[in-house]
Parts: sequence; structure tokens; C-alpha cells
Amino acid sequence: VSPVTTTRISTPAGLPGLIEALAATTPKSRLLAGGTDLVRAMTQDHWTPDLIIDLSGIPELHGVQTGAGCLRIGATTTFSEIATDEVVWRHARCLAEAADVVGAVQTRNIATIGGNVGNASPCGDSIPALLALDATAVIVDAIGETSERRVGQIVTGPGTTSLRHDQAIVEFAIPTPPDGSRSTYAKLGSRTMVSVARIGMALVVRLEPADRTILEARVGIGALGETAFRAADLERLLTGRRADEATRDAFIAACPRVAQNAIPGRYSLPYKQEAIRGVAADAWAKLDLDE
Ligand SMILES: Cc1cc2nc3c(=O)[nH]c(=O)nc-3n(C[C@H](O)[C@H](O)[C@H](O)COP(=O)(O)OP(=O)(O)OC[C@H]3O[C@@H](n4cnc5c(N)ncnc54)[C@H](O)[C@@H]3O)c2cc1C
Repeated sequence: VSPVTTTRISTPAGLPGLIEALAATTPKSRLLAGGTDLVRAMTQDHWTPDLIIDLSGIPELHGVQTGAGCLRIGATTTFSEIATDEVVWRHARCLAEAADVVGAVQTRNIATIGGNVGNASPCGDSIPALLALDATAVIVDAIGETSERRVGQIVTGPGTTSLRHDQAIVEFAIPTPPDGSRSTYAKLGSRTMVSVARIGMALVVRLEPADRTILEARVGIGALGETAFRAADLERLLTGRRADEATRDAFIAACPRVAQNAIPGRYSLPYKQEAIRGVAADAWAKLDLDE
């Protein structure tokens, strides 16, 4: 006789209700945003949480706002909303571009940025962009305390995060980029529009306007190893160089070693080494550094 499992559903209408609901969670409880990952996992694995907290009715978790030196994107903001937000395009272009290539439009209309980070897939498109943008997540817990954590400290492995079951991401804070900054996201997938990223690269650079020296570079890479990561070697290589063809060539040439370090000995390494060169070339071209 199979055990009867029942799931309680909580539908808080605001942050106080969420905090109350978080206090009732156990390790078997789950937050539900768009459900594109959670519902699939429950169906595939024939698994039922003891409590589902539906985040869709909490206004404090939703939308894009600017202020106090940063852009704030609520956890339940969908990728369609991010990809069509003019402010995100202006301040965090790589994130808007990453949002624009998540799945097909049907997925983007319901999939959220908080769910993408909460799901912690190595292929999650928003994660390399958030890493390159130096984003932090604002987290609330069951006693109503809020804390901030870098996105790189949240995603700890494939499908695992440092979040406790009684914590939820409220929003992401992205520092307003200084003048001379630009960013982009390039992705190589098995199919172009409906694919989970085989490799994604977010590139953020800040240029000295007079001589086009790269003052700062941040490179986030996804779908290359167990979690998305910042490629410190590539960042060091770019910083201090002129944004010219020689730097572009050196940047692309350094990419296979990044793949080698990320997935040594993996059967897919030769493919990924070639793929990352193509993604790096795309990202560089999309930055329009020759303007
Ligand atoms: C057909 C299809 C195509 C896809 N293509 C892509 C793609 O190209 N790129 C890509 O990156 N992804 C892709 N995905 C995966 C998925 O759509 C994304 O990961 C999505 O962003 C998950 O968001 P969600 O709102 O649906 O999360 P949910 O499924 O609701 O939740 C996912 C996980 O995150 C947790 N969670 C949700 N919200 C929060 C929060 N606020 N705080 C803490 N934890 C939270 C949940 O408890 C759950 O464990 C695809 C999925 C499908 C079905």
C-alpha cells in the first residue's frame, strides 16, 4: 500500500504572510514561483513536498526598480518582463540578453529569475549574468530577518544552494554600472531558441573613454562544469589592455584553458573548448567595442 501524502498550499499575499509561511516549512517544503522547474521535478520524480508556498501573490517580490545606486529586480519577475524592460537593458544589458534567450516565449512568460537561481542548474542563463554584474540577493527568513548574499555564494553546486528551507530570495540588487561600462551575454545551445545553454558567457567591461583601455572586466561562464563561475584568468587578461583586435584574439585564445580547468578529462572537453572560443568571439562582437 503506497503511503498517502498530502501537500499543504500556502498563498501569502504579502511579505508578512511569506515570513509566517516560512516558519512552517520543513526540509521537504518548497517555494513555488513559475513552477517550470519545480512542477517538472515533482512529476518526473513522483515526489510531493509537504508544503508549497506559492510566491505569485506577493507584490514585494515582483518588478524592476531603480534607486540608491542599484537596480532591484524582484525574485518573481519573469524573464519576459526582464527581457522587455528598458531600464534593465540600459543598466544590465547582459541580464536582459540572457533573459531573452531562456527557452521559448511560453517559458519566459512564467519562468522567474528567483526560480532560476533557486533551481541552481549549471545551465541557468541568468546566473553567469548575475555573477558578472556582481549582483547580491536579498534573502528573508522565517523570523523576518533580511540578509544579503552574493549570487556566487547562493549557488553551491548543481541543483543545490546555500539557502535554508525557511529562507526565500526577495530580490536581486545589481550595482549601477559606472560610466564607460557595457555588457553582453552570448549563448551557444544545441537549438537556438529552445535550448538549455551548452555554454553561456556574460561579459562586463568598463572602458577608459580616451584611449579605450579596459579598466575593469568581469566574465561569468555557465554550463561549463558544475556551477556557473567567474573566469578570473580571463578577467586578469583583459584588464589594462586596449580594446582592440590583439586583445580580442588573446581573449579568445585563452578560453580553451578555462574549459580545461573547469572540466579536466571530461568527454565533452574538446567540444566545449571549441564552443567557448565561439561564444567568446560572439560576446566580444556584441559588445561593439570598435564603436
Ligand atoms: C521547456 C523549458 C525550457 C527551458 N529553457 C531554459 C533555458 O533556456 N535557460 C534556463 O536558464 N532555464 C531554462 N529552463 C528552466 C526554467 O524555466 C528556469 O530555471 C526558470 O527560471 C525557473 O523559474 P520558475 O519560476 O519556474 O521556478 P520554480 O520551478 O517555481 O522553482 C525552481 C526552484 O527554485 C526555488 N525557488 C523559486 N523561487 C524562489 C525564491 N524566490 N527564493 C528561493 N528559492 C526559490 C523553488 O523552490 C524550486 O526549488 C527551461 C524550462 C523548460 C520547462
